[in-house]
Amino acid sequence: MKIAFIGLGNMGGGMAANLVKAGHDVRAFDLSQDALTAAKEAGCGVFGSIGEAVTGAEAVVSMLPNGAIVKGVYTDSVIGTAPAGAIFLDCSTIDVATARDVIGAAESDGYEMVDAPVSGGIAAANGGTLTFMVGGTQSAFDRAKPVLEAMGKAVIHAGDSGNGQAAKICNNMLLAIHMAGTCEAFQMAEKLGLDPQTFYDISSVSSGQNWSMTSYCPVPGVGPQSPSDNDYQGGFATALMLKDLRLAMEAADASDSAVPMGARAAALYEDFNGAGNGGLDFSALIKTY
Ligand code: NAD
Repeated sequence: MKIAFIGLGNMGGGMAANLVKAGHDVRAFDLSQDALTAAKEAGCGVFGSIGEAVTGAEAVVSMLPNGAIVKGVYTDSVIGTAPAGAIFLDCSTIDVATARDVIGAAESDGYEMVDAPVSGGIAAANGGTLTFMVGGTQSAFDRAKPVLEAMGKAVIHAGDSGNGQAAKICNNMLLAIHMAGTCEAFQMAEKLGLDPQTFYDISSVSSGQNWSMTSYCPVPGVGPQSPSDNDYQGGFATALMLKDLRLAMEAADASDSAVPMGARAAALYEDFNGAGNGGLDFSALIKTY
């Protein structure tokens, strides 16, 4: 397929390269020259504007920083410019309301579009092992699926437009809550005289078991290899977790949802990020206990 790809940063660069490897003709655009140079090396065609990149495209994929940029890109340069019948896939993490607005605007112009945010970081983007949670009509999902399969290991239909973003922020809010709880429990166990490894051996096979403990333990040297074993470098940056928590808090307000634990986790990550830790993996929160 001829696929236009907009936003080839940390995540989009690897995703576009995987579309090339799958045999697609990828037409790249990014505001950054460095990103375009890397895209060219990965086998993409590079273009000087979105208008040129989407010319003749059967699909348009975007991986952009936030909702305002996604809205600007689609309403100013993609909708009405891409060929009639092209399918649009926005893989960025953005707020549910903007995702629904942009999809609505695309649909009013006769296009099909899905929101398809990802779970998995830069390594998964490079390795083609992302999980996509997809919002949109059944017909849009069916058309988007083969494109997403070239970039990921799982593609799940979450329901109507915006539901991909809803799944993403609910999942990441839960992740922040259980990471904060895991940090808290390890710290208290230690203060009460338990060795962290012993607490892990017990809790990882007891009812406190959770992913933050058994796949991503915030205590160095305990559990499988994770960013805590590398001084909290790499992994999922605190600043990105905070971005998702802010989106979750906005969505909670808009939907009148009670999120007392999510709000507390968001406040903890606001403070941790504000103290200059935005570049550390989010499991480094344990340093504050
Ligand atoms: P990034 O900043 O590395 O990449 C974004 C790219 O978009 C940049 O290359 C930038 O130049 C480009 N861009 C910005 N405005 C543009 C415009 N108007 N037109 C064209 N290009 C434009 O960010 P990233 O880490 O790749 O994240 C992208 C999205 O993926 C975000 O929504 C983020 O929340 C989400 N995400 C990131 C991770 C991660 O681990 N990095 C994990 C899951 C989801």
